[in-house]
Amino acid sequence: MRILVTGGAGYIGSHTCKALAHQGHTVVTYDNLSTGHRELVRWGDFVYGDILDTQRLRACIRQHRIEGVIHFAASAYVGESVVDPGKYFRNNVCGTLSILDAMRDEYVPYIVVSGTCAVYGSPEKMPITEDTPTTPINPYGASKLFMERMLADYENAHGIKWMSLRYFNAAGCDPDGETGEWHEPETHLIPLALMAAMGKMPALEIFGDDYPTPDGTCIRDYIHVTDLSEAHIKALRYLVDGGKRHALNLGAGIGASVKEIIFAIENITKKNVPHIISQRRYGDPPTLIADISKAQQILKWTPKCSNISLIVKSSLAWASKKNCRFHTLSAHRIGKGKVYKKF
Ligand code: UDP
Repeated sequence: MRILVTGGAGYIGSHTCKALAHQGHTVVTYDNLSTGHRELVRWGDFVYGDILDTQRLRACIRQHRIEGVIHFAASAYVGESVVDPGKYFRNNVCGTLSILDAMRDEYVPYIVVSGTCAVYGSPEKMPITEDTPTTPINPYGASKLFMERMLADYENAHGIKWMSLRYFNAAGCDPDGETGEWHEPETHLIPLALMAAMGKMPALEIFGDDYPTPDGTCIRDYIHVTDLSEAHIKALRYLVDGGKRHALNLGAGIGASVKEIIFAIENITKKNVPHIISQRRYGDPPTLIADISKAQQILKWTPKCSNISLIVKSSLAWASKKNCRFHTLSAHRIGKGKVYKKF
């Protein structure tokens, strides 16, 4: 298939582009590089553009004869969404609306989108199934829930088939080290803990150790990005084969606490992760664990790489590589040093 990947220069998007290309699909990345990186677009063509620009999207769809869309481009920092909700409703709701309009006008029938477990808010009952009530507690979760609502209405009115994949905690990096997690600023636990272990920052802050969990730190369900990518491709295939719309949980189906992650990193790196205990972070539920049985059954998918050891090892390999590259690029931006085209 000829597939448009919005946000293909980002973390999960670039891994999915690689997986799509390896399975013989033609990939076109559409990205405004606001958080993505041109260097991560290594599979297929690149079109610089904003998802809010419907005419540009339409031209891109026409030019590349796009048959399906995988939509990652979104704003995805919970904390930022609380202080700047407009950005989240604009990029996530209006951005998706713009993509849907472009698809409707250019007759593209399939879309798979990044959903999130943030649509569930802070449920008490674990694991979280797709029947758990959707009561988001921040604008990010609300914007993604509204996106699903729009998809349902566009399907009813215009026949666009869709699937929303509600990720839990995406983690890990491409096992070949060709792409990986690269956020600026970095706010996620595993890359930050690795930076602390490598002496790149003084200490990791643990956001609260007084939660109602066995060791007092928050429990999350970490899913390897390779497993996530695979699920997107299966979801698209499912729609093409005539499957009906779903919003599906994607996780490993097991949880790990912040302290367990630190312990795993210390074991693998043989280095201490210096850390301090600080205040709880606003909006962090104590525990989030996915029930993934519906995704397993519908997509005939199962997570294969989502164990903490593989996640940490692949993140470590990428972090070491990215550090060399990142310093080289920074030097280039301020007019010094040499830019290497390849890793
Ligand atoms: N966390 C932490 N220190 C950090 C970053 C994250 O203690 O510097 C905790 C956070 O409170 C949460 C877990 O690690 O319980 C995972 O957070 P992350 O930001 O990686 O993902 P999120 O769950 O917010 O999507």
